[in-house]
Amino acid sequence: MIHLDNNATTRPCDAARAAAGHAADVLWGNPSSVHRAGQAARHAVELARAEMAALLGVTPRSIVFTSSGTESIDLAIRGSLAATGRGVIVTTRVEHASVRDLCEDLARRGAAEVRWAPLTPSGLVDLDALDAMLDPGVAIASIQWANNETGTIQPVAEIARRCRARGVRFHTDAVQAVGKIPLGLGGEEGPDLLSASAHKFHGLKGVGVLWLRPGVAVAPTLLGTQELGRRGGTENVPGILAAGAAAREAAEWLADPTRAAAQGTLRDRFERHVLGRLSWAVGNAPGAARLWNTSNLAFPRLEAEPILMMLSERGVFASAGAACSSGSLEPSPVLLALGIEPERAHGSIRFSLSRETTEREIDEAARLVVECVTRLRASTSGVVG
Ligand code: PLP
Repeated sequence: MIHLDNNATTRPCDAARAAAGHAADVLWGNPSSVHRAGQAARHAVELARAEMAALLGVTPRSIVFTSSGTESIDLAIRGSLAATGRGVIVTTRVEHASVRDLCEDLARRGAAEVRWAPLTPSGLVDLDALDAMLDPGVAIASIQWANNETGTIQPVAEIARRCRARGVRFHTDAVQAVGKIPLGLGGEEGPDLLSASAHKFHGLKGVGVLWLRPGVAVAPTLLGTQELGRRGGTENVPGILAAGAAAREAAEWLADPTRAAAQGTLRDRFERHVLGRLSWAVGNAPGAARLWNTSNLAFPRLEAEPILMMLSERGVFASAGAACSSGSLEPSPVLLALGIEPERAHGSIRFSLSRETTEREIDEAARLVVECVTRLRASTSGVVG
C-alpha cells in the first residue's frame, strides 16, 4: 500500500500509538478527579500539553485541546464573535470547509457578515484588498497557513502585521502546516489564534489544538470546567497523550531542515515523472511557495473518482479535493476559487507525502498513476498518450 492520501499518509507514529495504548491500559482515570488515578492522568495530559506547546514554541497554558481541527476553528471563530461583540469575519474562498462552511452558515443565518478577501493569481491573499476590509467592526480574520489541496503557503507574518495594525485579531488554520514546517510562533509578531489537528502530524484522529496568544480570549462554545474553562468535556486522554508524543517527534524531525528538503525533492520527482510522461496533464500549483508534501495534478477530460478507484485497486491511496468530500461529484471549491476551469478541477487529484514516504513508493506511485490515467483516457476518448 502506498499512502498518498492526506488523512492516511500521516499514520500515527510508534510513539503516539504507545502513548495512546498506555493511556487506555494504565492512565484511564478522569483528569478532573482528585484521587491518584485521576491525578496521574492529569499529570500526563499536562506533559502532553507541554510537548504540544514546545512544537509550536508557545506556553503550555495557551494550548486548548479539542476534538478536531474543525472544533478548534469553530471555537476560534464563533468564540471570537461572542468575545469581541463584533459581527464581521474576514476570510478567503480557499479555506478548508471547516472555515468556509462555518462562515457561509453564519452569514446565511444573519449571525455574522462575511467579507471574502480576493486572491492573487498565484493563490495568495491580496494583501491590499485585505487591508481595506479590516475595520473596527471585524471580530476576526481567518486565513489558512497552508492550503490542504495545493499546499500554497500564505504570507502569514505579513497578514498578522496588517491585522495587528488595524486592531483585528488574526486566526490561522494551520492544520496542514503544523509539524511540516517551522512556524516561529512565540514572539510578539504572528497570529493571535492558531488551529491544528493531531492526525496531520502523526497523532491520532479526533484531537484538535487551539492556541490562543496570551491575552486573547474566546467565549467557550462547549461550557464546562475543563481546559481552564475554555472547552468543556472530559479530555480524550489517549488522543491527547498521542498528540503530545507526536508533537515531540515532529519537533525532532523539524530540527533538521534537510529532512523536509529531501521529502520536497521526492514530491518534485513524482511530479516530474508524471508530467514528463503525460504531456496533457498539468500541475495545479498556482506558483507561490507551497508545502513540501502536497502535489495536485490535473488530468483534464477525466473524472477524479475512477482514477482514485483504479489507483486504489493497485494499492495507491490518494484523494480528490478535500478528502472529507471525496465521493461528492462536485469539483473542489478551492480549485474553482483559484480560477481553475471546472473541467480541469473535475479531473484533479491530490497526492500528499509524509515524512515517511520513500523514493521507492514515489517511483512506484508515479508509474501507476501514468498507467491508470493513460488507460482511462484511452477508454474514454480512444486517444492513447
Ligand atoms: N483545516 C485544514 C486545512 C484541513 O486540512 C483539515 C482536515 O483535513 C481541517 C481543517 C479539519 O481538521 P479535522 O479533520 O481534524 O476536523
